[in-house]
Amino acid sequence: MANLLSGKAVSAKALGSVATQTAELVASGGSQPTLAVILVGEDPASQIYVRNKHRACEQVGFHSLEFKLPVHAGQAALLSRVEELNANASVHGVLCQMPLPKGYDYDESAVQRAISPGKDVDAFHPYNTGLLSLGMPQFLPCTPMGVMELLRDAAIPLAGKEVVVLGRSNIVGKPMALLALAADATVTICHSRTKALAQITRRADVLIVAVGKPRFVTADMVQEGAVVVDVGVNRLSDGKVCGDVDFDTVAEKAAWITPVPGGCGPMTIAMLMQNTLRAAKLAQGDA
Ligand code: NAP
Repeated sequence: MANLLSGKAVSAKALGSVATQTAELVASGGSQPTLAVILVGEDPASQIYVRNKHRACEQVGFHSLEFKLPVHAGQAALLSRVEELNANASVHGVLCQMPLPKGYDYDESAVQRAISPGKDVDAFHPYNTGLLSLGMPQFLPCTPMGVMELLRDAAIPLAGKEVVVLGRSNIVGKPMALLALAADATVTICHSRTKALAQITRRADVLIVAVGKPRFVTADMVQEGAVVVDVGVNRLSDGKVCGDVDFDTVAEKAAWITPVPGGCGPMTIAMLMQNTLRAAKLAQGDA
């Protein structure tokens, strides 16, 4: 049976460290890190994500601002809110909860480009994506950063390892592959057009899965003794949440595995707090 890569435990440590550094920053006369989150519409899942970010801010001693826009607010109103927050020196991190409501004229990519790169704590701005691809990141995207932290905490080195990333999205798969490459892994990225997928995933010493399909990865796709990181979050019809990996069977074969929930999810929020602290320190010339 595999060892658990527990995002709950590792994120608690990361949040504790952010809380300590925040207290030190404020005690030394620095300003309290402030994260502004914009939420458009009333999607229940987005509301939960925003609430969790707010709670994490409270936990580490940040000031958290929430701006709710009605579903029909429109792109111009959204961009104008972003500009206001960019211009507000007391705000250190700005993010807009994605996805934006479907069926309206929103352009997610334009919103990501509008956020000032120095406040881009999600690290989705092309400037930050470019720095990451050059190996000189200012901020790392939170989910792949959380995966790296989980692996680091478990003392699982990537140098020289075969890492297979399943999924090539801009927010998870691609940056994940870049981070594994920067850690000297030999990296393969798979996607919906990949042929003989199981042959490739079985080569993986470390398999990182972000496809968004419940229990997509089964035991026959995994090498004995592999490390399996499940980024997926899928809500089933009975309301339960499961990952992209068939946990019960894969855990019999893997050496390490992340649970869902309690794996990558809590890490993502903890890394958002790390990025916000970094943004606050950068703004105060203290990073
Ligand atoms: P996405 O944008 O939908 O990307 C999914 C990727 O999976 C795409 O690259 C797609 O390939 C690939 N794919 C789909 N079906 C496939 C198949 N049959 N075989 C091989 N590849 C396939 O999703 P995402 O935003 O990266 O998110 C992935 C999952 O992670 C979702 O469950 C999401 O909820 C979760 N997530 C979790 C966190 C967290 O904090 N834990 C954060 C972000 C996302 P193509 O490019 O060819 O279409």
